Amino acid sequence: MQNSSDLLNTLRSIHRKSYPAYKSLKGAYRFDNYILSIDHVQGDPFASPSHISVRVSLQRAGFPPAYHKDAVTRTALCDYLTRQFYQQANRYTFRAKGSGKSGLISVSRCGQEVLARTACEITDKEIISRFFIGFPANGRTINAPELEKILFEFLPVCVQKTFFYKNVNSRALEQCIFLAEDQAYIRSQLEERSLTAFVADGAILPRESGVSSLPMKNSVPFESPESLRVSMELPHRGKISGMGVPRGITLIVGGGYHGKSTLLNALELGVYNHISGDGREYVITDASALKLRSEDGRFIRDVDISLFINDLPNKKDTHCFSTEDASGSTSQAAGIVEGIEAGSKVFLLDEDTSATNFMVRDTFMQQVIAREKEPITPFLERARDLYEKAGISTILVAGSSGAFFHIADTILQMDSYHPVDITAATKNLCKEYPLSSSGAPAFAMPVSRRVMSKASVSARPGRRSDRDERLKVKVHGKDGFLLGKQEVDLRYLEQITDTEQTAALGQLLKYAVEHLTDGKRTLPEIVRYLSHELQTKGFSFLAEGSHIACGYAVPRIQEIYSCFNRYRR
Ligand code: ADP
Ligand code: MG
Repeated sequence: MQNSSDLLNTLRSIHRKSYPAYKSLKGAYRFDNYILSIDHVQGDPFASPSHISVRVSLQRAGFPPAYHKDAVTRTALCDYLTRQFYQQANRYTFRAKGSGKSGLISVSRCGQEVLARTACEITDKEIISRFFIGFPANGRTINAPELEKILFEFLPVCVQKTFFYKNVNSRALEQCIFLAEDQAYIRSQLEERSLTAFVADGAILPRESGVSSLPMKNSVPFESPESLRVSMELPHRGKISGMGVPRGITLIVGGGYHGKSTLLNALELGVYNHISGDGREYVITDASALKLRSEDGRFIRDVDISLFINDLPNKKDTHCFSTEDASGSTSQAAGIVEGIEAGSKVFLLDEDTSATNFMVRDTFMQQVIAREKEPITPFLERARDLYEKAGISTILVAGSSGAFFHIADTILQMDSYHPVDITAATKNLCKEYPLSSSGAPAFAMPVSRRVMSKASVSARPGRRSDRDERLKVKVHGKDGFLLGKQEVDLRYLEQITDTEQTAALGQLLKYAVEHLTDGKRTLPEIVRYLSHELQTKGFSFLAEGSHIACGYAVPRIQEIYSCFNRYRR
């Protein structure tokens, strides 16, 4: 391996040359106590910036081994380091000058959730940090002294202050690690105590605004109803109490603006760990929980929705249903079946974002429209079987239909942001408002028969096959991406919490399309394979012999499914 002095010499030798001469810098260089690697050099000062990584041996970095002993602590440590490195880099970005992106130092910006990212990974031997630098130029002429400033003045300071234990705020870091371990403990307790979620007393659920995920100031802290209160002894923080949401069907009711959706939103994101100060640190939901909503216009391919929809007037087979343009109810039926396939054990629904005819049919309507004339078996008539026969719990926000009272195990009323357990009182009332018998067809688990074949992205007769044509991924924020010429719309996947997750989904789908769609593998087989590779090898398996850049965060298996299901293959 070359030394930093070699890098300096090469760099000085290309000053004032034309931009592509920067390519000669590619390679790894040994600095005092880290290795700097220039993995990819941008084509010009306006192109997306160059890929840089820094590696520090664990031994030199000196973090206590307990801080990276398992996946939980490693993810927490990496998250902490990325946030610190971001702050350091931010002090120096654009301090070196030039045209286009000259002088940019860009590190992943972490939000309220703690996610595993390519920005920082810890292996058995070392910490790897990945980020971007805009190599400076005047016009398209290399400005070597400016890059020298970045690589030999700025970066060494950022690296020293971030990746060496002796230089970090050990107290703050310890708190992050402890928090992650406490959160993992609560997650393990959900299973043990047959709960689907835990919401700690004192948690702050509402956010500052629709565009800010910071906690709302001066809001009403959460306080569990006595009947649902559980307490736990966390390994670090000690005793904590809060609401345990039991398995089964939980109904959240209450007047408008009383905080129903806010509670449900917190549960949706409780599949992730939140940082200290967020207010939702101890709001923990079953990691497989899936938010379901209606999404008319979405694409559906070969999904067995017969559990909910049968005998369509056009005689379409609903055991293997496809459409280019789903209705609200079919989209939601497909969402549930895909969720079962993805292994979700909890479904989260909000009446506000559900298709009404998918959720309930009232007695009067049942009288007027005969059962045989109605293709839809509403969710109301399936929820109990979903729990009793498939072990899938439901947490449902309902504002307008009382029919769900009959099937609920737990009924929570949000009253001016305070949850009240009204199960017993409501169950008494149920007798006065009987539910007419439904006559729904028997429950049968849907059967997956989907293979994932290549899309018609580019394979047209007489043209190059799409194996030769490398697919490009273009990410549009959190909302989706373009794969080749196909738009994959992820706007309605409310549990995608970071652009980097969307970017990762784009890469995973691209990999699947290029390597795994032989027309034999089923979708679940493909997703299981990808998720296993991600867990064991990290993102490097996607790099296919090349390097992996920063800018990707690990999505859940549920989002991989949901994304692949929205790809018009
Ligand atoms: P619902 O779904 O019951 O109609 P929302 O959950 O949408 O009500 O909440 C209505 C408003 O109240 C939102 O603007 C939300 O930010 C605010 N809010 C929710 N929970 C709290 C709380 N605990 N303290 C203060 N304001 C809250
Ligand atoms: Mg609401």
